Amino acid sequence: MKYYSTKNKNKFFSFREAVLKGLPDDNGLFMPEQFVPLSVKFLSGLKSKSIAGIGFETSKSFVGNEIPESDLERICNEAFNFPVPLVRLGERTYVAELFHGPTLAFKDFGARFMARVMSNLNRNENKKLTILVATSGDTGSAVADGFYDVEGIEVFILYPSGGVSDLQEKQLTTYGKNIRAIEVKGTFDDCQRMVKTAFLDKDLVNAYRLSSANSINIARLIPQMVYYFSAYAQLPEHNSKVVFTVPSGNFGNLTAGLFAKKICLPVSHYIASTNVNDTVPLYLEGKNFNPRPSIATISNAMDVGNPSNFGRMLELYDNSLEAMKNEISAFVVTDNETESEMKKVYSTYKYVADPHGAVGIAGWERYLEKNKNSIGIVLETAHPAKFIDTVERVLDISLPLPEALEKLKTKSKVAKLLSSDFEELKSYLLAEQ
Ligand SMILES: *Cc1c(COP(=O)(O)O)cnc(C)c1O
Repeated sequence: MKYYSTKNKNKFFSFREAVLKGLPDDNGLFMPEQFVPLSVKFLSGLKSKSIAGIGFETSKSFVGNEIPESDLERICNEAFNFPVPLVRLGERTYVAELFHGPTLAFKDFGARFMARVMSNLNRNENKKLTILVATSGDTGSAVADGFYDVEGIEVFILYPSGGVSDLQEKQLTTYGKNIRAIEVKGTFDDCQRMVKTAFLDKDLVNAYRLSSANSINIARLIPQMVYYFSAYAQLPEHNSKVVFTVPSGNFGNLTAGLFAKKICLPVSHYIASTNVNDTVPLYLEGKNFNPRPSIATISNAMDVGNPSNFGRMLELYDNSLEAMKNEISAFVVTDNETESEMKKVYSTYKYVADPHGAVGIAGWERYLEKNKNSIGIVLETAHPAKFIDTVERVLDISLPLPEALEKLKTKSKVAKLLSSDFEELKSYLLAEQ
C-alpha cells in the first residue's frame, strides 16, 4: 500500500516511510492511496473470529507486503491480547468497553500495534530505533506500555514535573528496561519544544535513529478499526441501522471508524460526541473550521481545540460538508450534562461510566430521540477508575482500583530530573548513547 500526504497527492510514500516519519514534511497527514474492501466471506464469518484474527485481516491491506504475513499475525496476537466486551444498556443501546488493555484506555490498541510494527520495520537496520516523546499524561502511559520490552526500540519519555497525576507518573516511571522517563522542571510545552529541537539537532540525529510516537501516526489508526468490527460482530441481531457513537477529542478514534466503513463494515451512521471543545460540531453546523485554545473539562482526554485528525476526515469526504453530514452527526455535551448522564446511567442500569463514555452515551441518546429505529454502540474509551476522583464524587460511591493500578502503588519511580534547557537534554542523551 502506498501513502500520500493530504497536502500533496502526487508524491507517494511506502508504509514504512509513513510509519517511521509519522508526519510528512509538508505538515499534511498520511493517507492510504486506496481502501481495499474486505471479502463478504470475512464479514459473514466475523462472529467466530478472535480479536487478533480480526486485527490481522483488517490491517493486512494497509500494511501491504512490507511486513511478512506471519510477522503481522504475530504482531496482532501480541498487540490485541485483551477482550472488547459489548455490554447491553437498555433496548437499543450497547457499550463497547475498550478499556481492558494494560493501561485501561483505548489508546492501548494503537500504541501496542504501532510499537510492534515499528520494531518490525526496523528489523534490517543495525541501529536500534529511539523514540522521543513528550507527554502530559495519558498518551505517555500507553506509549510506555506499548513499547515496553519491544525488540530493537528504546524510548525516552519527557513529562512536566508536577504536571501529571501521581498515578500517571507511576505509569510513566516504573517500567524500566527500554523505557526511560525524563522529568522536566518545566511545562508540557517545554517538553514538546525540547523534543522538537532534538529532531533538528545534527549531533543527536547522527548519534541516534530517532522517531516519534505521535498520535497522528497512521500505525495508530489502522489497529483502531479492530474494535469496530469486534463490537459489531457481537450484536445479537443485525439490522442495517447500526450507529457508532465516539467520544472525540483529536478524532483519531472516529477516523478509524470511517476507515472501517471504507473497507465495508456495515455501519449506517457515526456520532461524534464532544465536550464543550466543539470545533468539529460547529463545522458540521455549517460554520468555518475554527481551531481554538482548549477548554478544561472533566472529560479531559478530549480537551482539544484543534483536532489533529480533522484533515483526514475532510480528505475522506473530498472536502464536502454535505457528504460528511450524511454520515456523521455531532453533539456537544457540557460538564453538567456529563455528570447527569453518569448519574442516570448508574441509577438506571447500575453501570459506572467514566466521564468520556458518558459524553458518548449522552450524544447517542439525543440522536436516538429522532432516529428511533437505530441500534447504537457507544465506545467507552476509559476505565472509570482512571478518573476515580470525578467518578466517586459524581456518583457518591467508592470505586475499587483495578489490579493494574493497585500494583503501581508499590513500585518506585525512576526518572532523570532535567531542567527545561535543551542543552541539558542533549548532553544527557549523548552520554546515554
Ligand atoms: C484520547 C482519548 C479520547 C479521544 O480520542 P480521540 O481519538 O483523540 O478523539 C477519548 N477518551 C479517552 C479516555 C482518551 O484517552
